[in-house]
Amino acid sequence: MNVAELGEVMSGLGEPGWRGRQVAEAIYRQRIVDVGSITTLPKGLRDRLTLEGWRVGRPGVVQVFTSVDGTERYLVQGQADALTVETVWMPEGDEGEAGDTAGEEAAGDGSGRKWDRATICVSSQVGCAVNCQFCLTAKLGLQRNLSAGEIAGQVVEVLDRQRVEIGKDRVNLVFMGMGEPFLNYDNFMRAVRLLVEEVGLSPQRMTVSTSGIVPGIERFAEEPAEIRPKLAISLNAPNDEVRSEVMPINRKWPIEAIVDAVRAVRLRAKERVTFEYVLLGGVTDQPKQAAEVARLVRRTGLPAKVNLIAWNPGPGIPYTTPSEGAVEIFRRALGAEGVPVYLRRPRGRDIYAACGQLKRTEEARS
Ligand code: SAH
Ligand code: SF4
Repeated sequence: MNVAELGEVMSGLGEPGWRGRQVAEAIYRQRIVDVGSITTLPKGLRDRLTLEGWRVGRPGVVQVFTSVDGTERYLVQGQADALTVETVWMPEGDEGEAGDTAGEEAAGDGSGRKWDRATICVSSQVGCAVNCQFCLTAKLGLQRNLSAGEIAGQVVEVLDRQRVEIGKDRVNLVFMGMGEPFLNYDNFMRAVRLLVEEVGLSPQRMTVSTSGIVPGIERFAEEPAEIRPKLAISLNAPNDEVRSEVMPINRKWPIEAIVDAVRAVRLRAKERVTFEYVLLGGVTDQPKQAAEVARLVRRTGLPAKVNLIAWNPGPGIPYTTPSEGAVEIFRRALGAEGVPVYLRRPRGRDIYAACGQLKRTEEARS
């Protein structure tokens, strides 16, 4: 619930509506998880809320996997059922945000913190219905949508765990965890609103990635700039033929349809659209494909950058990770064509936390 909805709850109890603000502060800013601890409310009201069955709360971390590179993968469970999703904490980001924050310096405030530009990767669904051939999450199928509270709650839970101070610490959010955000559009955008309006995070530090759900992109284009995150498109192939092979959903919404929808998004000053591109050995990593990608990106006429991701392996997925040399050749070839290109560092591969590896894996790799 947002402030207004919490205010209505309070009014319904015969309390002043402004108490909704106090409850919102408690949940989203103070990160309180039980009604009894909301000390801004009178004791009598707290008791009454508890007695009447009102609860505040959020999904909780039930298991933690820590990578050698500092990345942490959390299994997070909501209050509705036993299903879990994954949320990833990357203390130093993965370079995916590179080129977005030109001119910014690291915090370096002497606070002794071990990170200064962390990224939280957030899930939007349990599993995913989009059948991308290279992605481990796809193997789960779609189990259910997450609610807005479950999506925003993952973030609050991690902010609390890492003792992040809003307004002081630099934290980016990427909606690139399990699921396809644009196939859970309403809950996803409600969560974004909560995160912007109640938690106090900037939408310009949030990026949502979509596999190219055109109706979702069209709705996204209508969102006001004050709450609209930045947009990333999982391109992953130089043309429709290859894309349909690795992302069958391309048969429904091919590249040109996606690009047309993206063109309707009113970008902010200096904002760029990100095209993510997973390099699959022998399939999408050929140097001549780099030139094709460059032509494609230029043809869109969009202010854009390309984020390359070397494929992260998963059990039972028949692709190979290109060599570092092949990745470098591809990156240079794109760059030589004048396309801004960044290489996303794989974070937490050893604990199945990297892109495309989120599948509620209960183990770390040995
Ligand atoms: N469903 C959304 C967001 C989550 S996936 C989407 O597909 O865009 C986030 C990114 O990880 C996508 O760009 C996807 O193409 C990429 N990805 C999926 N599986 C991967 C893998 N095994 N290795 C590297 N990247 C992968
Ligand atoms: Fe779903 Fe994204 Fe994985 Fe495709 S890459 S199956 S859209 S999570």
